[in-house]
Amino acid sequence: MVGYVYDPIFTQHETGNHIERPQRVIRIHEVAQNFPLLRLPIAKGSKEALATVHDPAYVEWVERAYDQGFRFILNEDTILGPRSFEVASYAAGSTMPVVDAFRQGEITRAFLNIRPPGHHAERKTGQGFCIFNNIAFMARYAQRRGFEKVMIIDFDVHHGNGTQEIFYEDPTVFFFSTHERNNYPYFTGHEDEIGAGPGTGFTRNRPYGDYCSDQELLALYDDLPQDFDFDILLVSAGYDLMAPETISTAQITLDGLRQLVRRILDFAGDRPTAFLLEGGYNLDSLASSVEVTLEELLWYG
Ligand SMILES: [Zn+2]
Repeated sequence: MVGYVYDPIFTQHETGNHIERPQRVIRIHEVAQNFPLLRLPIAKGSKEALATVHDPAYVEWVERAYDQGFRFILNEDTILGPRSFEVASYAAGSTMPVVDAFRQGEITRAFLNIRPPGHHAERKTGQGFCIFNNIAFMARYAQRRGFEKVMIIDFDVHHGNGTQEIFYEDPTVFFFSTHERNNYPYFTGHEDEIGAGPGTGFTRNRPYGDYCSDQELLALYDDLPQDFDFDILLVSAGYDLMAPETISTAQITLDGLRQLVRRILDFAGDRPTAFLLEGGYNLDSLASSVEVTLEELLWYG
């Protein structure tokens, strides 16, 4: 079975006319209803649980920020609305029932239609539309549930700087990212960033140039680590690499995406695999991209 996470609460992080808007998850949910998915419950990440990934002082700050008059984190990229803390706590926390369902053998793959996204959120701050790092939270929870070694693949067109930072010195979580070189967050994601201390060799970045084609992208996945014996695979699924998106110059087609998803599922083998929504802002492109992803999660392999 393929698990699926969605709840209307994810529309309640209000961002005005920002591109990272509630319609994204609504549109994806319309698509998801056409597929035989196992709907999983949502759950709230407690402040204590969020502190397994983030600085407790940052979590406390987010909880109070809106009431104290703050309307964004760092800059207007990352909007704070009246319910944003609550919604972000659910976006991270709702990864837990997915891990539990993997553990109990109810599902083997999952898609999480959640927002706000997470991969730019670092230990001490949100940024780049992200408040809490959902995939990092899921990795830590998975480890508490016995999935000791966690593989993360991030195919969002932007570098997952937050995820990289959180696990940079950690040899139990391998972070592999492909992304557009001359794009946000600009100063991270180079090939020579490979981790540090005991985590040296457990971060791998494969940036690409402007107007990346399907073939160029897929070739980078030849560099997935063959010697990291992981127990679970988590994917930062950012669909802002698709050709119709204007936030990047990448030219990935639906056929290229389908091949990418298959490549990732081949790499996973029979290990639990979860795709977490990150970017993707053109609603039509987002809908057809998630449709392709769900088809492959359900019927490939
Ligand atoms: Zn992105």
